[in-house]
Order: sequence, then structure tokens, then C-alpha cells
Amino acid sequence: MSDLKNFDKTPEERDIAHHFHAYTDARRHEEVGPMIIESGQGIYVKDNNGKRFIEGMAGLWSVAVGFQEQRLIDVVVKQMRQLPYYHNFGHKTHGPAIELAEQLIKLAHVPMSKVFYTNSGSEANDTVLKMVWYRSNALGKPEKKKVIARNRAYHGVTIAAASLTGLPNNHRSFDLPLNGVLHTLAPHYWKEGQNGETEEQFATRCADELDALIQREGPDTVAAFWAEPVMGAGGVVVPPATYFEKIQAVLAKYDVLFVADEVICGFGRTGEMFGSITYDIRPDVMVMSKQITSSYVPFSAIMMNDRFYQPIADESHRISTFGHGFTGGGHPLGAIVALENLAIIKERDLVANAKETGTHFLNRLHTLSESPLVGEVRGVGLIAALELVDDKAAKSVKVAGKLGRLMNETMQRNGLISRGMGDAVAFCPPLIITRAQADDMFEIVARSLREVEAEVGVA
Ligand code: PMP
Repeated sequence: MSDLKNFDKTPEERDIAHHFHAYTDARRHEEVGPMIIESGQGIYVKDNNGKRFIEGMAGLWSVAVGFQEQRLIDVVVKQMRQLPYYHNFGHKTHGPAIELAEQLIKLAHVPMSKVFYTNSGSEANDTVLKMVWYRSNALGKPEKKKVIARNRAYHGVTIAAASLTGLPNNHRSFDLPLNGVLHTLAPHYWKEGQNGETEEQFATRCADELDALIQREGPDTVAAFWAEPVMGAGGVVVPPATYFEKIQAVLAKYDVLFVADEVICGFGRTGEMFGSITYDIRPDVMVMSKQITSSYVPFSAIMMNDRFYQPIADESHRISTFGHGFTGGGHPLGAIVALENLAIIKERDLVANAKETGTHFLNRLHTLSESPLVGEVRGVGLIAALELVDDKAAKSVKVAGKLGRLMNETMQRNGLISRGMGDAVAFCPPLIITRAQADDMFEIVARSLREVEAEVGVA
């Protein structure tokens, strides 16, 4: 490990000098500097001052089995010694890639046919969009290329993935989205539901809007619909009752593919193996990353059914190759970690833990609904959010983002890392979290909320 102390400058100064941070206001970083995390153990991480935090976001929604899981360390070392790298171009392959593809197909709740490997959630979504286009060409429908995602969606940041993403900060100043990537209503009942509208009525309106969009664009021009079962970065948006049932009926009517982005939901987060199981989604394509390796190694995978795969395979034969793939795709270290990680999730029954401990934590969060600052508590399994407001009746905030930031900073001071998304704060701890640890986490949330109430003068 590099020794951060053995320099004239502090590590904070060195970070400011040379490290351009992701998702950070670069000028503000020059003033406030970094938070340096030095180690992790279980659900906890420690900073370079020795302060311990509950990692209430599992890193970036991803460290399912917690930090310092010895079994993952051991398989990496063993694989490094045997075959540290190989690829899957031109018919080549290796044991971990074969085994993992087979395991993923077995895990799927709907008939799936093939797995394609990529390195990140963004790359996977970009790859699926290219496959969608390739497939339409293969089918002799070159006009069927448009795709639809939702406002508030998060599908990544590469050019196609960022286009699919439905958040202003991912488009503004980047000249995105690309043409042909459209967005429809987010299934955010609390924010978008109209006065007197039930959840089911709102779900019907979402489906009607999708139907109208497809009609307006021309059904022959729309190829695929993208959705996270539970929207993550867009604010932990849990779909209203009957939403996916109604959406899938519209897609079936127009022969539009369903791409389920399981990057956050996959591998237990919602209390089932996939978010698609929780919401009865029967996707043609599933995009997986993050918890697949507990993020110990960058890795992602795309699983597809025959309806999706077969025309692509025919086209690759016609032009003698599928001209797409990544140097690191199906990396043996990622594949071996994924296999061991999935074995741990199964052996320790972490999917059931997500349901049980998640329900317990969510029930406790609901007790905070009385607070004048809490507009909504929402979640499922081990993913949840508190939506903060100044004015509960009007569901409004005076300065957008201020309450979320304040709450997030207060929780961090009190030893809990969470994530502010506008005025919502998210919780997505490692799936190994125990009931007692979930109670500790809740106590910090409750205490921080009281402190924020006092600070803004509503206590
Ligand atoms: N899809 C979803 C649902 C995500 O949450 C994310 C990342 N937060 C991505 C895609 C993009 O993944 P990556 O950051 O690995 O590119």
C-alpha cells in the first residue's frame, strides 16, 4: 500500500492537486478537499483519521457481502496465480467465464439464452443499445431504432447510457441525449401523482403516456424500453402498484423489447434475487453489475433471451463477426469473484436477509413520518429513502437540495455514510447487515433528523 504520510504535503493537498473527482463540483473540492477512506470491514469503513462509519450505501449500492470478505480475497489470489487475464474474442474463453454464464442463466427467473460480458453498468447499457440497433438491422427493420427510458432513470454515463439516463446533470453541458433516445414519465407517485389519483390510476396514466409516446413516434420506429425495477440514483423510486403489469402490456402491443437494468436491484437488493422478480417483470434483456462482484472487481454482464439473441447471431454470421467487445470483458478475476460472491449470497441467504432486515429497517424509518421534515418514506428490501420537505402539505422545499445535503452531512458527522439525491437521502447498506446493525443505522438517522429539525428551526 502506498504510504500517504511520507510526503511534504498532506494526502488531502495531494488529492486536491492532482485528482479530478467523479460527480464532484471541482471548484468546491479545491476548498473542502477529500474524504479519504483507508479501510473497510463488514458494513464499516474507516477514514484516515480513524473515524468509523457505517457504509449505509454499500459503496455505490454495491458491496453486497461487506468489506474484507476473505473468500473473495482468496479466489482472486488463486486466480491471479493461475490465469490473471484472458479474453473472449475470436472463440477464446476460460473456465470462470464459462461457469459464470451458466450460473447466471440458471439464476434467471425467465428463460434466458446467452450472457455477454462488459466492465461497468454504463458499458453494458451502451452495448445493449448497440445490440438493439444491430438486431433491428438483422430483422430488416432499420427504422426500428428508437428507445424509451424514463425521467429520473439512471443507466450510466457513457454516451448511450447517459442518453438513457433521465437526469438533467447527465445531459446538461454534455450535448446529450442522443437523438432517438426518448423519455417518459417517472413512476414517482409521491411527486407525480395528481390530487385524488390512486396508485393504480397513476400507473394507468404512466402506461397511457408510454402508449401515446409510442403512437406519436410510430410503433414501427420504437425498438426497446429500458427500466430499473426500482430507480436508484433518481431517488429510490419504488414503482406504484400495477405499474409494470400495465407497462408490459403496452410494450407487448407494439413489439417493443424490455431491457431491465438490474445494476442496483440484481442479486438480492429488493428481497428477491432480481428486482424483476419483485415486480413480475419478464425482460428480454437483463443488465447486471455492482453486486455481481460486490464491486471488489469492476465487472458487468448482459443476459438475453433467444428472441433477442438469435437475430444478432444470424447477423454476425452474415457479416462474419459481431464487431463489438472489450479487452476486459469477462475478465477472469471478475468472473471468479462473481462466482464466489454469488455462492456467499446463496449460502448465507442474504436475499432473505434483505427482505427481513430491510422490512425491519423500513418499518423503523416509517416512524419518522411524523417529522415535519419528512415528506415520504419509501423503499423495498434493503433499499430505502427519506424524502425531505419544508412544507409537507405542498410537498415542497424552499431551496432545492438544501435539506438533503444538510441531512446527509449530519448523518456523516454522526458516523453514517448515506447519499443525498436532491432532497431525498438514500440507504442501501451491504446485504450482510444484521438487525442490530440496522437498528444502529436507524438510531443515527433519527438523531440526525432531530439535529436537522433543530437547525432549520422546526423542532
Ligand atoms: N445502471 C444503474 C441502475 C446504476 O445504478 C448504475 C450506476 N449507479 C449504472 C447503470 C452505471 O454503472 P457504472 O457506474 O458501473 O457505469
